[in-house]
Amino acid sequence: MQVKYFNEYAETMSRDEIKNVQSRKLCTLVNYVYTNVPSYREKMQKAGILPGDIKSVDDLKLLPFTYKQDLRDTYPFGMFATPMEQIVRIHASSGTTGKKTVVGYTAHDIDMWAECIARALVGAGVSRGDIAQVAYGYGLFTGGLGVHYGCEKLGASVIPISGGNTNNQIQTMIDFGTSVIACTPSYALYIAETMAEMGLSPDDNKLKVGIFGAEPWSEQMRADIEKSLGIKAIDIYGLSEVMGPGVACECLEQDGMHIQEDNFIAEIIDTDTGELMPEGEAGEIVFTTLTKEGLPLIRYRTHDISRLETKKCACGRTFARMKKVTGRSDDMLIIRGVNVFPSQIEGVLLDIAGTTPNYQIIVNRVDNRDVLEVLVEMSAALFSDEVRRIEDVEARLRGKLESVLGINARVRMVEPKTIARSEGKAKRVIDNRKM
Ligand SMILES: [Zn+2]
Repeated sequence: MQVKYFNEYAETMSRDEIKNVQSRKLCTLVNYVYTNVPSYREKMQKAGILPGDIKSVDDLKLLPFTYKQDLRDTYPFGMFATPMEQIVRIHASSGTTGKKTVVGYTAHDIDMWAECIARALVGAGVSRGDIAQVAYGYGLFTGGLGVHYGCEKLGASVIPISGGNTNNQIQTMIDFGTSVIACTPSYALYIAETMAEMGLSPDDNKLKVGIFGAEPWSEQMRADIEKSLGIKAIDIYGLSEVMGPGVACECLEQDGMHIQEDNFIAEIIDTDTGELMPEGEAGEIVFTTLTKEGLPLIRYRTHDISRLETKKCACGRTFARMKKVTGRSDDMLIIRGVNVFPSQIEGVLLDIAGTTPNYQIIVNRVDNRDVLEVLVEMSAALFSDEVRRIEDVEARLRGKLESVLGINARVRMVEPKTIARSEGKAKRVIDNRKM
C-alpha cells in the first residue's frame, strides 16, 4: 500500500514546532559533546562559551565550526562521543593524505539513519512491495549499507547487488522485477546505455524510480536518465561525516531536497566570513547533527554550495529544502562519486622521478561519464631521454594515481614549460563539466 509519509508527525510539523524540537535537541547535544568530546570542550572554552549559553537554535551561530581537519587531527576515533562498546558500525571516506575520515555509529544512530532513508524512499513514491536494487558500493563507503537499511526499515525487498558487473545488474533487474534502483547518477546512465546496446527498451524493465546521489549532476543528466530508463530520477544528499546518504532527499515534486530537520540543522554561510546568509541566497551548507550519538557534529563545514527554502512543499512536507549542490567552496572535485583533491595528485608527482610539480587537472564529462585527465610537465632530463622512458614514467604515474585516487586517470606527459604559469595561484583545475 502506498503511504504519503513514513513519519507523518515529524515530516509535517509546523515551522514553529520544528524550531522548538531543534532548540530542545540542540541544548541536549551541546551538553553531550561538552561532556564527552574533549576537542569540542576545548573549542568551546577557547570561544568562551558554556553549554548553558545555548538556549535555542538562534544561539547556534555562537558555536565554533567543525572542520574535516578536526576529524583528521583526532584520527581515527578521537571525536567519538561514546565508548567503543556502544559503536556497532564504522564507515570511512577516502583519505586525501593517507588518512581516512572515520565515522562511528551506535545502534540508535543506525536506526535513525534507516528512518531518514525510509522517509526519503516514501517521499520518492517507494512502498512495501517494491523491489529495490542497491547498486551503490557496499563497504566503508556509506552508500550501499545506508540505503540498504532504509529499504529494510520501510519493508521494501532489497537486492544488495552493490556496484559493477553491469550485465548482471540488468539481468537481475529484469528477472527479479526491480522497481527501484539506487546508485550514482553516472552509473544509472551507464546502465541505460548498456541496456540500449543489449537491444532493451525502457518497457523491458519494471523500474519506476531511481535514488541517485554521491556526486553532482545536472538537470540535463536527470532528463537523460528519466528518458532512457523510463523512471523518475530523485536526488539524494548526504556525506559520511554527517551520516551518509539521506540527510536530505527530493520528494516527487523534484524541487529541492527535504532536510530531515528533526535530526539535522542546516545553515547557509558565507564561506569566507562564516556569517549566516539570508534565506534563498547561495552559500556553503553547514550541518549540525541533533540526534547522533557516535559522532555528533556541530556546525560541520561541508564546502558544498547550495541554497535553502523553508516554504511548505506541494508534497505536504514542511522540512526545509536544499537546492541541488552547484559547486564546492574548496578545491575538492567529485569524480565518478569519488572525492579527489589536487593535493593528492601533487603528492604522487613528488614520488615519481622525471616529473615536475607543474601539472593541470582537466575534468570532462564525455557521454555522461566523468573523465579525469592529468597533464604533467616532464623534467628537462626526461624530455631529452628516449620515448620509451617517457612512456614508462607515464605508465607508472597512471598506476600510482589509480591506487591513490581509486579511479583511473588519463595521463599525458608534456614538454617542460608548456603549462601556463600564472602570477598568483596556479590554475590547477579545469572542470569542463556543466553542473
Ligand atoms: Zn516535497
